[in-house]
Amino acid sequence: MSGSLLIDNIGELVTNSPGDGPLGIRRDAAVLAEEGRVVWVGPSAYAPAADHRIDAGGAAVLPGFVDSHAHLVFAGDRAAEFAARMAGQPYTGGGIRTTVGATRAATDDELRGTVRRLRGEALRQGTTTMEIKSGYGLTVADEARSLRIAAESSTETTFLGAHVVPAEYADRPDDYVGLVCGPMLAAAAPYAKWIDVFCERGAFDVDHARAILACGQAVGLGVRVHANQLGPGPGVQLGVELGAASVDHCTYLSDADVDALADTAHSDGSGTRTVATLLPGAEFSTRSPYPDARRLLDAGVTVALATDCNPGSSYTSSMPFCVALAVREMRMTPAEAVWAATAGGALALRRDDIGVLTPGARADLVVLDAPSHLHLAYRPGVPLIRQVIRNGVPQ
Ligand SMILES: [Zn+2]
Repeated sequence: MSGSLLIDNIGELVTNSPGDGPLGIRRDAAVLAEEGRVVWVGPSAYAPAADHRIDAGGAAVLPGFVDSHAHLVFAGDRAAEFAARMAGQPYTGGGIRTTVGATRAATDDELRGTVRRLRGEALRQGTTTMEIKSGYGLTVADEARSLRIAAESSTETTFLGAHVVPAEYADRPDDYVGLVCGPMLAAAAPYAKWIDVFCERGAFDVDHARAILACGQAVGLGVRVHANQLGPGPGVQLGVELGAASVDHCTYLSDADVDALADTAHSDGSGTRTVATLLPGAEFSTRSPYPDARRLLDAGVTVALATDCNPGSSYTSSMPFCVALAVREMRMTPAEAVWAATAGGALALRRDDIGVLTPGARADLVVLDAPSHLHLAYRPGVPLIRQVIRNGVPQ
């Protein structure tokens, strides 16, 4: 499709533009897109002419969801492990190695097929930007090909060679850290924008995590950390120390962790802000306690929501599901949850061109089959995404 696109007759437009409440809501609005960008937002009655038109029919329109945490490059599934967990077995993270074995055995086309299937699934549920991590290869060749395949579907790609220590390095983790920082990083970096470490008991301790993240920073990658998911630990403070864009999970936080995150949000620019990305799909799927979003928000921490889509601990690609969980289980208001799933995700990726619908932003929009963003939490499990527009193009 070429030419301009007008979406008019919008009953409730979520712009996330500061000023009109937290969501910057406009009533009876219209949005004009040209060449993939928003060029005009205003009252529907005064909308300019355009080459193409979508009549929203009074429905709600929001920025496309920004899913800033997903693991899509893998093979196999772990449905049986999920069933065992629902029957009472605890989640330990050890099942990651099951997926590593299947991923190494898969062909490029099998991995590519899974990424495309899940990316398409997410798009149909309103996700217009999706971060994709490696982390199930854990060899130089398998991490590099995971990122090469991820980069075909997203510019937001993350090297997670430090997901777990693979079985063949179980008794010499220092050697594995050397591999990650050396040849694996060198092979992965051309396809990666970010580096991430699973800093947790049973995965990587704080010294290893710091060393790996510093190596990534030295070659120009931005920092993200899997932190404080399974218990209290140093991951969040390490992320803040290194200027991470986001620390993810944040289920077990001390007061000092919360204060450290809040200090980054209060500092002078988004360039130093560390976002707390909450992943309620993981707590849902592992039947674990949810993070205390209310505590973070009340302290002034910037919060994002993401799916953590992966075959072991959160096999959902649905941002609307995560919004509903955040409202019901984490005591976020619907407005806070929708903001966190759009503008919050954008900040977690240090992006100012997505997650908002203001002139100059990317024309990534979702038309709901509902009159208000409230319905995303009010009507859980219902397919409310009527139309997705990405880069100004109806999908
Ligand atoms: Zn994750």
